[in-house]
Amino acid sequence: MKPRDLSDHVPYRAGRGITEVARELGLNPDDLHKLSSNENPFGPSPRAVEAIVDAAESVHTYPKAAHTDLVEALAETWALDPVQVWLTPGGDGFLDYLARAFLDSGDRVLVPEPGFAYYAMSAHYRDAGVDQYHLSKHDGFEQTAETILEAYDDHRIIYVTTPHNPSGSEMTLDEIETLTETTNEDTLVVVDEAYGEFTSNSSARQLLDERDDVAVLRTFSKAYGLAGLRLGYGLVPRAWASAYERVNTPFAVNAPACYAGLAALDDDDHVERTVETVHWARTYIRETLGAPTWESGGNFVLAEVGNAKDVTEQAQRKGTIIRDCTSFGLSECIRVSCGTKETTTRAVATLNEVLDG
Ligand SMILES: *Cc1c(COP(=O)(O)O)cnc(C)c1O
Repeated sequence: MKPRDLSDHVPYRAGRGITEVARELGLNPDDLHKLSSNENPFGPSPRAVEAIVDAAESVHTYPKAAHTDLVEALAETWALDPVQVWLTPGGDGFLDYLARAFLDSGDRVLVPEPGFAYYAMSAHYRDAGVDQYHLSKHDGFEQTAETILEAYDDHRIIYVTTPHNPSGSEMTLDEIETLTETTNEDTLVVVDEAYGEFTSNSSARQLLDERDDVAVLRTFSKAYGLAGLRLGYGLVPRAWASAYERVNTPFAVNAPACYAGLAALDDDDHVERTVETVHWARTYIRETLGAPTWESGGNFVLAEVGNAKDVTEQAQRKGTIIRDCTSFGLSECIRVSCGTKETTTRAVATLNEVLDG
């Protein structure tokens, strides 16, 4: 026997890991620097590590209290009712839950191009159709309500990424509000703020006080350095918040992840240090890299380098792993994640050598 017809489903291609690349090139993993997946270069908060170790003793029980405690802490952080916080396995899990709660077979969704692959994947699982709105490289990947509305045709879900992966461009709260006001009342606007900690623009959380057609995605994978635990959440309108119980995979968010999330939320110093270093690195990369770059609100910078595959392979042989953006439809661009001062400086030096060669 076989699975159902999955020929429409495009597999997710993650940035490559250090171990993978080291094996392939016969290099020592310690000599490689990975700036390809927008991870936190300082690692997790030490407090989160301690919480994971402590939680290990009780992993024979199903996670219940841990889940409740983290939801309450997040509700307080965002000044929302706890039912408005949907805890999910990674931010990606929130996309799945929204697809489960909103999409019927044959519905259509609207996704950014270039953009994050999982919007379309999660919609495909529900047999929804996928259309794209185009963010133009020549306009600096500018995101306005108008750009999106040009492609809008009563879609059930519109996905907005701000700061946008892979370009770093942002959509202001005013533009998002215009979009939600202009689209019809059965269109949900999902605002993906996976990189929200790195920007000074306001969160779309503000719209939840007035509207029932917006949801906000957040994650512990980027600024909080917990990507390996798979912990994310959504902020949703009160009106349909209780749908969570009907679409949640039982105990999908594990207890060590919840406790680590609680500890990480408490460690302001870790997040501040991360965000400050990202601000430094964004400027450094843009000023020092010998290639055109775009302004970024995230913890990465997109650069135009000619043949991205070639540049990525050469940099890798010199120990720097960056993201070739060919899979985003940008075969002339690379995405460089912000590292520590040391790894960022080294990455830019390596890339400049490659670009000069
Ligand atoms: C990283 C990322 C996410 C969420 O990742 P998780 O690890 O599943 O939390 C969501 N959207 C974008 C654009 C991302 O880059």
